[in-house]
Amino acid sequence: MREPAGLYVHVPFCAAICNYCNFNRGLFDGGLKARYLDALVAEIEGGADGGPLAADTIFFGGGTPSLLEPEEIARIIGACERAFDVAEDREVTLEANPESVTEARLRAYRAAGVTRVSFGVQSFRDEELRRLSRLHTADRARAAVGEARAAGFDNVSLDLMMWLPAQRLEDWLESVEAAIALAPDHLSLYLLEVYPNAPLKDEMARARWSQAADEDAAAMYLAAMERLDAAGYLQYEISNVARADRRSRHNLKYWTDGDWLGFGCGAHSTRDGARWKNVAATDDYIDRVRRGGSAAVDVRRLSADERLGDALFTGLRLTDGIDLDAVGSRYGVDVWRRFGADLDPFLEAGHLERAGSRLRLTRQGMLLANEVMMVFV
Ligand code: SF4
Repeated sequence: MREPAGLYVHVPFCAAICNYCNFNRGLFDGGLKARYLDALVAEIEGGADGGPLAADTIFFGGGTPSLLEPEEIARIIGACERAFDVAEDREVTLEANPESVTEARLRAYRAAGVTRVSFGVQSFRDEELRRLSRLHTADRARAAVGEARAAGFDNVSLDLMMWLPAQRLEDWLESVEAAIALAPDHLSLYLLEVYPNAPLKDEMARARWSQAADEDAAAMYLAAMERLDAAGYLQYEISNVARADRRSRHNLKYWTDGDWLGFGCGAHSTRDGARWKNVAATDDYIDRVRRGGSAAVDVRRLSADERLGDALFTGLRLTDGIDLDAVGSRYGVDVWRRFGADLDPFLEAGHLERAGSRLRLTRQGMLLANEVMMVFV
């Protein structure tokens, strides 16, 4: 029997646009938001057309979902409950920016059904936050975590970004220490990618800020993971650590060959070997749903080989790695016979480890994950 699916809801609004951002988002507009919410509810309520589907996670991502009012979040959760068989012990995550919350607002989100808050903190150094054109300060981020605890959240995650312009190893570790001091339940560590057309790129050129050398980025990653190990966090994925029982159940679906349905502009879905993507532009999305049509623009049925490749590729992101026998029997192939010769050099170099039918990346191997994973593509 398939595991319950995850439901992803995209909220494409932000109070300001960060200079490095490459997500599908735009500036907040109250009228547009109202029309978007109507479309979202309509899409979700029509979303179970493949038959009643069990789901056990809902993830509000963005954009800045915490720009939606608690009653708007409740309305969307209600639509999910009408369209899907949503488990009682669900995980409902809201991505939030520290400047957009108060204790009262967080309390109201909790009453609306949110069980987990994920704050986009990025850095605990004000100078770095200004460089990234973020609207909050380190103190506001600290206060937001306290407000979430006071509001009763026992599942709080923080996002941090490393390899920031002009960031040194010790600057990065200052943010890691500051995060640990707040005792979040979960942390995601991302590497900043500066896109060619990002305004940050011009600002970096003008201010002569550069990113540290590649080997320093690797050192940042390894040092942070060691520090988090020592603080009692368990790394469970290349970029994610958590306290026991606080791994992101929703994100695990992406890495364990699960099903998920995405709602809203630009959202992706995968179900029973089919994959589709909604139209990215907010207005187009609203128009399509209003006309009663599908918001999906790119629908593909994956071949057996593509599904196998994806299961291996995403599964290796987990520190538990992949169970070669389980994946093999699911897809009817001998995985080692198919890929073993290409994987052997990585085993010999200590980037991969094999124990019985488990294959996993070592921490050093995680730095080269993309090279290893090319074997499956
Ligand atoms: S808050 Fe997040 S989604 Fe919005 S502009 Fe900044 S980085 Fe992009």
